[in-house]
Amino acid sequence: MSIAVVGSLGLDTIHTPAGRVEEVLGGSAAYFSLAARHFLPVALVAVVGEDFPPEARRALELPDVDLSGLEVRSGRTFRWEGIYSADMQSRETIRTELNVFEEFRPRLDDKVRKLPNVFLANIDPDLQSDVLSQFTRPRLVLCDTMNYWIHHKREELLSILRRVQILIINEEEARELTGEWATHKAARAILALGPEMVVVKEGEHGAFLQTDGFHFLCPAVPLEHIIDPTGAGDTFAGGFVGALARMGRVTERNLRAAVVFGCVLASFTVEGFGVVGLLRAERAEMLRRARGLLSMTQFTLDDTSRILR
Ligand code: AMP
Repeated sequence: MSIAVVGSLGLDTIHTPAGRVEEVLGGSAAYFSLAARHFLPVALVAVVGEDFPPEARRALELPDVDLSGLEVRSGRTFRWEGIYSADMQSRETIRTELNVFEEFRPRLDDKVRKLPNVFLANIDPDLQSDVLSQFTRPRLVLCDTMNYWIHHKREELLSILRRVQILIINEEEARELTGEWATHKAARAILALGPEMVVVKEGEHGAFLQTDGFHFLCPAVPLEHIIDPTGAGDTFAGGFVGALARMGRVTERNLRAAVVFGCVLASFTVEGFGVVGLLRAERAEMLRRARGLLSMTQFTLDDTSRILR
């Protein structure tokens, strides 16, 4: 019952108010896999160049991460460079070098085609469609996207949205996609485009889930030290999809718990540069943070006369 993820793998150069790192392991598939492996085994489908450093590969060589779908091509690995604002609420991309990622046309092997849970990370929507068609009987299909595709490949994006059950998207992209400013309105507008459910990632404010029956908001874990938000969204997706796929049934109860574990996993990522914080995540602390979110959001309304005149 593993999860397949198709996405980017690359070398990131990141500047935040806490410091700077150069050419560290990054890419949506890296963050996703390192989060989702805590719930179910993950098959990673991505491409790197011959220059992909052995230490970056070693970080992914874990018992529950299947790297047989990781293609090594002649050429340079995907590279990305970003710089964060002083409050870390926004970032500017200063360099995107697609390199071997530009020619990425994954052909899935039979083992991966049969997997029931599929996450199509932020890649060209045409490629997302092509990859999705290669799965024999996907049960749970989710995707992510980014502003570039919203503006440059809108029709193709709308077409893949009609084929996925759940879209995971950040707040700004949800607005750009729908033209709605309020998150809950943008989320409902997204449901009209095809997905049965949408999760809007709201950075330090957590994540908002909308289905046609209910909505749920989970705050982010309050942290003392935020070092680097890169990959928090992909990590959220790994935690959310991992937990949901492991629980098996897509029920309201399971969806709520999955959003909580998405937020919990993302909290580890922002505590270190690149994947360093996420690699430190372990079961006891994950559960402690999940319980913290539960107590943070609980309240009682059993005796309303005590509150209202
Ligand atoms: P996030 O902070 O969750 O948006 O994810 C950041 C990660 O996305 C970084 O590790 C980047 O390497 C990767 N990334 C940035 N731009 C792209 C792109 N155009 N296509 C695929 N991955 C990208």
